[in-house]
Amino acid sequence: MLLTTVKGLVLRETPIGEADKLFDLLTENGVYTVRARGVRKPGSKYAAVTQCFAYGEFCLRRNKDFFYLDSAAPISLFYGIRNHLDALALCTYFSELMRKIATNQPQPQLLRLFLHCLHYLSEQTRPLPQIQAIFELRLVTELGHMPNLLCCTLCGEYLPSHLTLRVTYGDFLCKDCTLHSDVSDFHVKSPVLLAARHIVFSDFEKLFLFKLDEKNLSELCAYSECYVKQTLDVSCQALRFYHSLTADPNLSL
Ligand SMILES: [Zn+2]
Repeated sequence: MLLTTVKGLVLRETPIGEADKLFDLLTENGVYTVRARGVRKPGSKYAAVTQCFAYGEFCLRRNKDFFYLDSAAPISLFYGIRNHLDALALCTYFSELMRKIATNQPQPQLLRLFLHCLHYLSEQTRPLPQIQAIFELRLVTELGHMPNLLCCTLCGEYLPSHLTLRVTYGDFLCKDCTLHSDVSDFHVKSPVLLAARHIVFSDFEKLFLFKLDEKNLSELCAYSECYVKQTLDVSCQALRFYHSLTADPNLSL
């Protein structure tokens, strides 16, 4: 058996047998499924680091296509997420989306994006719709589906005050050039365009450094959600659960 050490984020855990679990680990080299023996026994020292959304260093034994946990050390457990049901639900959606699109090819930027989002969700220093929009728009950009947000496709105007973000065409039209409307069109104002541009173009270090008011943020988020769904052709059950929570604030912890 080969021993290998990787840094990774637990995307999903599934109980198996009496005390074992299987977990999906997002690493810089794709997603591994790992079997961890005995970690559900009371007092297991690897119980926390093999929980959902734990980030750590894992020593794995590889036998053909199977991975087994040898040992692990936590780097960050993002405990803050567990104090807020809506933040936890949003993470669960990110995790489902990631499992649907990640491959076993090296994609270090996906792990980096997810870790940054988890940090801000855990610290509660950004509104949830902002983190959702960043995750979604940057994810599609990293996967090679960046929308064309440079200028109006027809007349070339750089920053119209009113515009239409078009999901189907992955571009935008200024108000003067918008003659027809599609169900996946979003009529927004310039601050939404500036924020969307920031997400797709900015350096990773500056990704979360922008502010939008609540209405514009909600429009940006509706656009990013639709764009991801249509571009990647995915539908996530966890997103419906997240919406059911955020639609009724009394359910939120
Ligand atoms: Zn135009």
